[in-house]
Amino acid sequence: MRYVSTRGHSGRPEFCDILLGGLAPDGGLYLPETYPRVTATELAEWRNLPYAALALRILQKFITDIPACDLKAIADRTYTAQTYRHCRPGRDAGDITPLTTLAPDFHLLELSNGPTLAFKDMAMQLLGNLFEYVLAKRGEEINILGATSGDTGSAAEYAMRGKRGVRVFMLSPDGKMSAFQRAQMYSLADANIHNIAIRGMFDDCQDIVKAVSNDAAFKAKYKIGAVNSINWARVAAQVIYYFKGWFEATTRDDEEVSFCVPSGNFGNICAGHIARMMGLPIRRLVLATNENDVLDEFFRTGVYRPRKTAETYVTSSPSMDISKASNFERFVFDLVGRDPEVVRRLWAGVDAGGSFDLNGTPYLEQLSAFGFVSGRSTHADRLATIRDVWQRHEMMIDTHTADAVKVAREHREPGVPMVVLETAQPVKFAETIQEALGREPLRPAEFIGIEDLPQRVEVMDADAEAVKACIVKFCG
Ligand SMILES: *Cc1c(COP(=O)(O)O)cnc(C)c1O
Repeated sequence: MRYVSTRGHSGRPEFCDILLGGLAPDGGLYLPETYPRVTATELAEWRNLPYAALALRILQKFITDIPACDLKAIADRTYTAQTYRHCRPGRDAGDITPLTTLAPDFHLLELSNGPTLAFKDMAMQLLGNLFEYVLAKRGEEINILGATSGDTGSAAEYAMRGKRGVRVFMLSPDGKMSAFQRAQMYSLADANIHNIAIRGMFDDCQDIVKAVSNDAAFKAKYKIGAVNSINWARVAAQVIYYFKGWFEATTRDDEEVSFCVPSGNFGNICAGHIARMMGLPIRRLVLATNENDVLDEFFRTGVYRPRKTAETYVTSSPSMDISKASNFERFVFDLVGRDPEVVRRLWAGVDAGGSFDLNGTPYLEQLSAFGFVSGRSTHADRLATIRDVWQRHEMMIDTHTADAVKVAREHREPGVPMVVLETAQPVKFAETIQEALGREPLRPAEFIGIEDLPQRVEVMDADAEAVKACIVKFCG
């Protein structure tokens, strides 16, 4: 399998060549040259496979430069009941992503049973094992530099802790994360994990990451890398659970299923699009946003209008508080018939702070051919949905999942199973659960009292040079 950039660069790299990097040299994002197809025979054979075995079958289609036995060992090590043990009482951790039926043809696919209780573990855990494997093979090291306002940073740290050849330097805004999120990250004692709290906002952290990465000499000398949501391996790993969820929600191999996905950077739902392109019988991909509705606006109007930072709302589903969607370019590449010239033209405008409008182009028709519909949810909707699901099903859901349940209900069709992706556990967003239900969310046993554990974090001013000095210090 070879990869292409959405902007046309044609080095034809393989999977391991793009694993450790970010953007393609031309500023585009990588995608497979052609999507691998899944045959009806394969679908039938895969139906009853355990998660790790299913993962291997799918990953083998995207990764042809790691020997099968090594890839199998990596998949077996990644998808274990031990890693995904934080499931609700009565679920089987061995399922990795248990499916819960809320009503006839209305299900929740639980993706947040990993170490940090958010779906980002599903991809990041695989990334940790792939990084370690490829770095060891090549005799290389990497220093991962990232910025986080919550879920991504902790998922990255739990995936990379103790991994040979990997150090993590994670910037977070000092005092801006919840006590639970701080405890998750700062209580890690592993020698290769470095938490840096920046006196400033999330944007200041991101600016520092950009400034350090733009220093080409420093970046090369200190092997600076990233694990952000545009990383292709993360998208590939997310394809797996669409298959798993589809098998769980169907009994026949020609049955169609719709998925509803709470979306921010378009990474999660992009994997659903790819599963559909591979031939998985997905009817609709229902995209749900919160008040930051740049993507809902696009799917309703054909206009993609990234917001200014000042126009971005701080909401109670914070992991979807985005001003633009970093993975969206992958989808638009397919939408415009994989013409890199068109993508370059559209993103010349976007990168200059503008927008684009597909009305009057032939591309709009493709939107429904690709199965996409969308909707949006507000804080009031979130509270009402959390309450309703609790009262009707005695099931507590988090704020992001609530946005998706609200929008999914608007797009149900008779006889078509709807699977809502659950992206976090409610304990991560306790304040809003308290507001909706007047009670504390359930907390998996191991997380009781984590706020009292000793914490390790270095607090610094928003200064890229100081962060560089810190990296230099630990690289000896
Ligand atoms: C990251 C995240 C999302 C958004 O996922 P994208 O891949 O960015 O669309 C939704 N919910 C939760 C809980 C998340 O952590």
